[in-house]
Amino acid sequence: MSDIRSICVYCGSGAGENPAYADAARRFGALLADNDVRLVYGGGGLGLMGTVARAVLESGGEVLGIIPEFLKSREHMLRDVQDLIVTEDMHHRKRLMFENADAFVALPGGIGTLEELVEMLTWGQLGQHTKPVIIANIDGFWEPLLGLLNEMEREGFIRPGLMATYQVASEAEDILPLIHAELDRRKDGSDNGALIGKL
Ligand code: AMP
Repeated sequence: MSDIRSICVYCGSGAGENPAYADAARRFGALLADNDVRLVYGGGGLGLMGTVARAVLESGGEVLGIIPEFLKSREHMLRDVQDLIVTEDMHHRKRLMFENADAFVALPGGIGTLEELVEMLTWGQLGQHTKPVIIANIDGFWEPLLGLLNEMEREGFIRPGLMATYQVASEAEDILPLIHAELDRRKDGSDNGALIGKL
């Protein structure tokens, strides 16, 4: 099985209305800790971001928070993590989150989460990385985005040579197995990296 050391989780700085989101964030945080996978995240203490980070810490896991200076108080920077990096700006934050992770997971969230997820999809599409990107479609939260991606493919905007490579998980428990399977497939060479999310 592939070795995954760090996973970057993008998720809301709010909790969302559906309690299933926080529940999934908590369960995924505990799973990261149980599997000795470090959480890399945006460093905040609010919403799903705070929930996933606290769940990792409560289960004895390791967390790297990366937050820009101007958000330290606004997003209630979590101080009791093992590693904390304060960056000058958002661009540096995103770059470091990217560099420090072996895979990316988007739990439910807002515009920030969407932007970070889409950026990883575009970088992958342009061949800038081959790290797995998992869309955690908890209670169908990401259905509208999956529909739009499907539409882009139908309309020929996402097309051979410019494929969007991602996997869709419906439960927190599906995420790590999907990442392992994806990494194993790439290692075997049985997939040439053109794996497309099931739309
Ligand atoms: P949100 O999903 O909007 O609650 O935001 C989740 C996280 O993404 C927060 O830490 C935001 O600071 C961050 N964020 C907001 N806007 C952006 C952006 N344009 N690029 C990257 N991260 C962002």
